[in-house]
Amino acid sequence: PLAPGAALVASVKQSAARPRLYDTAAIQQLDSAHYLHPFTNFQDLNAKGARVMVRGEGIYLWDSQGSKILDGMSGLWCVNVGYGRTRISEAVYRQMETLPFYNSFFNTTNVPAVQLAAKLVEIAPLYFNHVFFTGSGSEANDTNVRMVRRYWDLLGQPQRHTIISRHNAYHGSTVAGASLGGMDGMHAQGGLPIPGIVHIGQPNYFESGKGMSEDAFGLLAASWLEEKILELGPEQVAAFIGEPVQGAGGVLIPPASYWPEIQRICDKYGVLLIADEVICGFGRLGKWFASELFGIKPDLITFAKGVTSGYVPLGGVLVGDRVADVLIDKGGEFNHGFTYSGHPVACAAALENIRIIEEEELVRKVAEDTGPYLKKRFAELGGHPLVGHADSCGFVAGLNLVRRKGATMHDCQLFEPEQGVGMICRGYLFDKGMIMRAVGDRMIVAPPLVMTRAQIDEMIALIRACLDATHADLR
Ligand code: PLP
Repeated sequence: PLAPGAALVASVKQSAARPRLYDTAAIQQLDSAHYLHPFTNFQDLNAKGARVMVRGEGIYLWDSQGSKILDGMSGLWCVNVGYGRTRISEAVYRQMETLPFYNSFFNTTNVPAVQLAAKLVEIAPLYFNHVFFTGSGSEANDTNVRMVRRYWDLLGQPQRHTIISRHNAYHGSTVAGASLGGMDGMHAQGGLPIPGIVHIGQPNYFESGKGMSEDAFGLLAASWLEEKILELGPEQVAAFIGEPVQGAGGVLIPPASYWPEIQRICDKYGVLLIADEVICGFGRLGKWFASELFGIKPDLITFAKGVTSGYVPLGGVLVGDRVADVLIDKGGEFNHGFTYSGHPVACAAALENIRIIEEEELVRKVAEDTGPYLKKRFAELGGHPLVGHADSCGFVAGLNLVRRKGATMHDCQLFEPEQGVGMICRGYLFDKGMIMRAVGDRMIVAPPLVMTRAQIDEMIALIRACLDATHADLR
């Protein structure tokens, strides 16, 4: 039998010149034997073996066979400050030495959690003065469900229970998170969504906007919310939840008219607005929070991922005054919380991560420098014969692979889904040392915010080479 642990590393002496040697086959075998991976086809994984990531530095990763990989996805949309930031590991180490854990239940607290709450309130829009911490984005969205229902209970409207979300949204993997999400594949397993959560269409202009201006389509997509509120009865509707830019659904950048209209509809019926900024927050769209970019005033903001750049798990909810005032003034005890709510080590990592984002002016750079440059370079890919549409917003970008281009994006001829063209393209990228995600035939990136202009050029060249290879493959 294979011995786990140190035996998997043939040489432990590590330097740039002499990297560690890993026994990849042995790791893969143990992996297949014991590790049930998230969002993974187990038989597929067992047949192929997982790629074993062993090191990260800046925007690059290295696998166990020594290949260098440009990480166009920031891990899983989270490593905003890039890999290998010693400052964060030192902050984590210091906190572990001082107080590795204490909980925030029953009138206790810890210093990093207090400091982080205050810091988040400082960078959030003005009317946010409170934070509830969780261990992940999914737990944060579960918290939202409980919190908005508690809010309406306290206001004497317990029937205001239903939460409206969107098809193809991603809000996490817990039972409530997956129910809030609108992924058919997730709903098909385990009888989701749970009662009290309903879905409307997503603002996907490429797919559904044929014959309309972008603004007209944005208003139409927002009107689906009003229709649903009226169908349910406004007195039944607790909240609407949406990602400012849908991430896992395929980087769907909404028309400019969409969010202001959603805000108007929520205001009209008194429905709470929840912005799930697990991906969009912490500079990814060129603002601390993307709600500012789209001119909306959510009552709750979900965050996770970029708050620690993924170095340590942490999530939470920024609670606006409308909700916080009711919870605090009328609420008594809120019977909700996690062992790791306000975990001191995670909060220390977040504080150092935010310091780095501030000192390196990453939010401003994404807004004014590297973000616009990525937009320009990505738009150039729109000229490729395989690309029907390419767009970006801050540091998320996507392109649609099409069989034949048309006069407009809506006249393109699409591939049959069974052809799996996105996966073919992703395979080339993988082999050439770049990570880009395929959502159907939409290829997406969300690079670390530290990516320079030269590195953007390197990424675009890699993508172009893989588009060429995919194109040649299909002829
Ligand atoms: N919300 C959004 C918008 C996400 O993209 C994700 C994760 O990708 C989540 C929630 C869930 O976060 P976690 O995986 O930390 O539970």
